[in-house]
Amino acid sequence: MSQGPTHEAAKSAALERNLAEALTLEAHELAGVPEVKVEHASRRGDAEVLIELASVSQRYAGEGAAAGRVALENVNLRVFKGEFVCLVGPSGCGKSTILNLIAGFMQPSDGRVLYKGAPIKGPGPDRAVMFQDHALFPWLTVQRNVEFGLKMANAQERQIRKKHARNYLAMVNMAGHEREYPHQLSGGMRQRVALARSLALESDVLLMDEPFSALDPTTRDMLHEQLQRIWMETKKTIVFVTHSLKEAIRLADRIVLMGSNPGRIRREIAVDIPRPRELNSLALDEINIVLRRELQNEHRPTLPVELPGVEYNI
Ligand code: ADP
Repeated sequence: MSQGPTHEAAKSAALERNLAEALTLEAHELAGVPEVKVEHASRRGDAEVLIELASVSQRYAGEGAAAGRVALENVNLRVFKGEFVCLVGPSGCGKSTILNLIAGFMQPSDGRVLYKGAPIKGPGPDRAVMFQDHALFPWLTVQRNVEFGLKMANAQERQIRKKHARNYLAMVNMAGHEREYPHQLSGGMRQRVALARSLALESDVLLMDEPFSALDPTTRDMLHEQLQRIWMETKKTIVFVTHSLKEAIRLADRIVLMGSNPGRIRREIAVDIPRPRELNSLALDEINIVLRRELQNEHRPTLPVELPGVEYNI
């Protein structure tokens, strides 16, 4: 029997369920799903450790109820050179805090955050950051926006800079838009320019904080494809924050599942589906369901799980 568009739409709607929704799935919804191998990643042979969080805790000063809030507690994480790591978890579990610590925007309350074995003391050209909000300068053209970071990084001559920026704009399929201004572009195009700007810095590490979450599903899908291709070409080390389990499965070598209150790492899972990964591939579907089952098994018996506006003491 043919499976029409309605079936496909229903299937993708189900797949779009985020991590919080995954926690509410019933066991019978998972019945009959084939098993796939889920490896627990703790070692990567001889690969170089680029970033390390060692016994990191983070408390924010805050006021009133927020005073002394523990955003992270005893987090241990290693990111290997060339790896694509996704931090996944419900809102408030400390994903952005980890990214900000690696970016060097702040120092941990306890523990150590290391880059190539040395403590991170502040932001640096070896770690580019890309946020959900494109943060382009509205008064600069696309070309000048990409060149801007290069000026700050002391790239030499104007001609070299210009060529360099054009190369990276072509890499994100934005060739031909160099002279346009941000207000003339769609949301997806603006994020592609922001990606080109981050890539043009040629940092070893790219830190991405929910960069595609404000985009519509079709644009997000296209950007996932582009990012996969760029990552395969450049072999950058990427730490990517998302609250979407599906996005993480599509992109990551390794998923770091986090929990909240206090923010901590629950589990790390290697995703060994070959790339490029398709949005509707069976393997992606299967691992999504298996991971949701893992979350269910892990969270239900022991934990008070907080979902937005709901509290479960299961
Ligand atoms: P996530 O990225 O997973 O949504 P965050 O890292 O942004 O989580 O936040 C983790 C916790 O730390 C949350 O409870 C949040 O309210 C708190 N927090 C984050 N930034 C600050 C801050 N500057 N001051 C006080 N509390 C903060």
